[in-house]
Formats: sequence, C-alpha cells, structure tokens
Amino acid sequence: MNNLINKGLKFLLIGLLLNCTATIDCGAVNKKKETDKPNILFVLCDDLGYNDVGFNGSQEIKTPNLDKLAADGTIFTSAYVSHPFCGPSRASIMTGVYPHKIGSQFNLPANDETIGKGIPKEETFISKVLQDVGYYTGAIGKWHLGATEKFHPNKRGFDDFYGFLGGGHNYFPEQYREAYDRQKKAGQKVIFDYLHPLEHNGVQVNETEYLTDALSREAVRFVKEAKEKKQPFFLYLAYNAPHVPLEAKEEDMAVFTNIKDKDRRTYAGMVYAVDRGVRRVVDALKKNKQFDNTLIVFLSDNGGKLSKGADNYPLREGKGSACEGGYRVPMFFHWPSKIPAGNKYEYPISTLDFYPTFTAMAEGHIGEDKMIDGKDILSHVIKGENARENEFIYCLRHRTAYSDAGIRSGKWKALKLKDDQWALYDLEKDISETNDLSKQYPEVLKFLVEAGKAWSDSHIQPYWFHAFPEGKLWYEHNMPRFEETFELGF
Ligand code: CA
Repeated sequence: MNNLINKGLKFLLIGLLLNCTATIDCGAVNKKKETDKPNILFVLCDDLGYNDVGFNGSQEIKTPNLDKLAADGTIFTSAYVSHPFCGPSRASIMTGVYPHKIGSQFNLPANDETIGKGIPKEETFISKVLQDVGYYTGAIGKWHLGATEKFHPNKRGFDDFYGFLGGGHNYFPEQYREAYDRQKKAGQKVIFDYLHPLEHNGVQVNETEYLTDALSREAVRFVKEAKEKKQPFFLYLAYNAPHVPLEAKEEDMAVFTNIKDKDRRTYAGMVYAVDRGVRRVVDALKKNKQFDNTLIVFLSDNGGKLSKGADNYPLREGKGSACEGGYRVPMFFHWPSKIPAGNKYEYPISTLDFYPTFTAMAEGHIGEDKMIDGKDILSHVIKGENARENEFIYCLRHRTAYSDAGIRSGKWKALKLKDDQWALYDLEKDISETNDLSKQYPEVLKFLVEAGKAWSDSHIQPYWFHAFPEGKLWYEHNMPRFEETFELGF
C-alpha cells in the first residue's frame, strides 16, 4: 500500500511540476515568438539493432551521415523504449505513458482497419500538444496506431501525413502494387496491409520510388512547407527500414560486398538507404536555414531482430525480449550549440521522456488529467547529469501464460524470463547480462521486483491482440497473472 501511495504522490508531483512549468513559461514576459521556437525532427527506425550504426561501433554497416550527426551531438548509450516491439513502443512515444496502462500492450492486428481499434482517443498525442502551440506537424512513414478514420494521423494532431497506416510495408512499388492489384482483381476482401497503396492525408497516391527514398523525399517536402508557413515544425519521420521484408536496392547492397550473408547484406543496404535519406533531410534543413534551430532525435522503436539480419552486440537477445537487446536502442540528439557535441550520455533515459521534454521545448501545455510516465530530460542531457536518479525503467512482455520482465534502476537490473527465477545484473559491469548477482544482493532484487509489482497495479486488460489465438490464450490462461510474475521465491 505504501508503494502505491508513494507512486501516486510521485505522479501527482510530476504532474504539478509539469503544469506549473508550462503555466509560468507561458506567462513570462520574454515568451518566444512562434518562429523562434525550435523544430523537432524525430527520426524513428524500425527494428534497428544496437550495433547496426557506425556511431555505436558497427564495423560492418556504414552510416556516415548518421555518424556525423551523432559525433556533433550526444550519443545515448542507455536509451530505452517502453516495449520491445513496434506498436506499444510507438504508442508510448505518442502518449508519454506505458502502453500497459492504456490497453495497448499488444500490436494492433494486421489489416486492423477491419477491426476498428486504435490507441484510445482519450490520450492526447504529443503531436496535438505541439500543434496547439503553433507547430506544423507531420508524420511520414509507418503509423501502426489505428487504421480507421478516427485514429488517422490527421485526427491525432498531425497536419500532414504521408505513408501507410499498418504495421509494415513492402519496399518496391512495382512489386507491391502488382500484388495488390492482382488480389483486388481476384475479389480478395482483405488484402495484406503491407501491399496497400500509400496515402497522403487520406488520399491514395501512386508512389513510384523505393519506400525509404519516398519517405525521405516527403520529409524534404515537409521541411520546405514548414519554412513557407513560417511555423516551427515537428516531423515524425518513421522509416519502416530495416523491418522485414528484407528488401534493399542493388546499389545499396553493393556497398556491402564485405558481408557474405544475404540477409545481413540486404539489411545493411536498407540501413544505408536510411542514412542517405537523413542526409537529404539535413541538406533541406540547411537550405531552409533551419539546421541550427532543430533538435534531431534519431533512434529505433525496439531492438534488432536477430533472425533477420540485425546485430545488437553487446546486448543480450533482440526484438521482443526483456533482455537489453529487446528494448535498449541506438539513439542520439543533435542540436547545434544546445546539445553538447562529442558527448556520450550513459545514464538511463526512456522514450517516455520525449512527451514532457518536447512539450517544455515548445512551451506547450499538458492537460491536468494527463498521465505522464516520463520527465523533461533536456537540461540534464545538456549538463550531463542523471535525469532519472532513483527512478525505474520497466519492460513487460506478455507471452502465453506468463510474462517476461525487466526492471532497471541505476546500474541494477532485475530480469525474469519464462520459468526462470528472477536474476539480477550490474549493467555497468555486465552490459550483456551474463553474471546473475541475485544471491549476493537479494535485498536489491527484492527492491526492484516490489517496484515492478507496484507498477503493474496501474495496468489494464488489453484492448486488442495481434491475432485471434493470442487473445484466446490470454483469457484461457487467466492472464496477466502478476502474482506469479512478481513472485520472488524467497
Ligand atoms: Ca519495430
């Protein structure tokens, strides 16, 4: 009970602090003009491995443009997403809340326009917060947060949307268009959403470029439009690369003749296309004289999928896992003369922190009732101080009849996998989670697991499941069965 009370107080205090800050800032005499507010370019990759960018040490995959930005900015070595796969991770970027609290702990079903589900409308997206204070807001690429009209990006605070609404997409238009047309002609009622034509603000378009190149082109267009509108912008550039299907251009694969494995070489080519694309967007920022006034955030939505060409070294496991490789992601911030250059920020931070951080940057307002799980980290990052002293970062992956869980605070991480007992790792000395210290430090383990248990009290039942069997099994096994997950056994 004490934990619950403490947690409630903590949320209340954070909420009060955020609201007060917004109120004071907005009333200040030297309030910034809209045109002086910083732009935010948020570049999200899909299933990009921790070790699949040059700035994190990849010897195989070249990412010269990303590396230059990272070197001129701050690299985060302990950046966490809130879930080790796509939909829930993205939901919490948009809402600033753990997905389990808003029934969004599973991916939306494929072809979810037929299911009619989406991230609850009661949740105000960060895009809406920024739009409300004069930002021109754009989402380009993968959505995966609801495919019916009421969940459309244009209804969630994005002035402009170019991309696709489902959880993934094929890359070569001549291929996916042919497959789509063939299936439609054959009268197939539900066509796999990876094959659907792209859209621009709800209107189908005839895209002809390789998908990553098309998204980069649209990002350039958006930057130019924002400049013409004389508005600060928030651009959510959600590349679906290097998510499957593994499809790269020959010219990009040709850069990696050193890689013999076909999947790995294709994957590398897909990452290289993102790198080329980011250079185009950066060039557009410079051309429009916006480069110095733009925070660029680059990261992945979850860990790389090891069976599909990714490498998360030195992290354990990958996409879907509660081990570090599942939800600790490559990330950097770049913002000339604001974010320290040539810096590494090694304290843990969460993508939950973006919502309050971006709101503060934009002098926006967070509603009094809004749940917030993150905090404004900008000043801590600039000063190189720990933004999350004595706080927790959670990961909870539901599986059939049990859940995997990770709980980190400071250097310590408690980890529960399947039927194993809880393990404890010192991530500062043991980033690969190989040396279980639970016997030496049982009180540390107990502290972390109790925090996890208290956190789980805020979770609700899922509003959807990725597939029918998943939902059936969930109820058959009386999930989430937290009393078992957070049982220490001593
Ligand atoms: Ca993903």
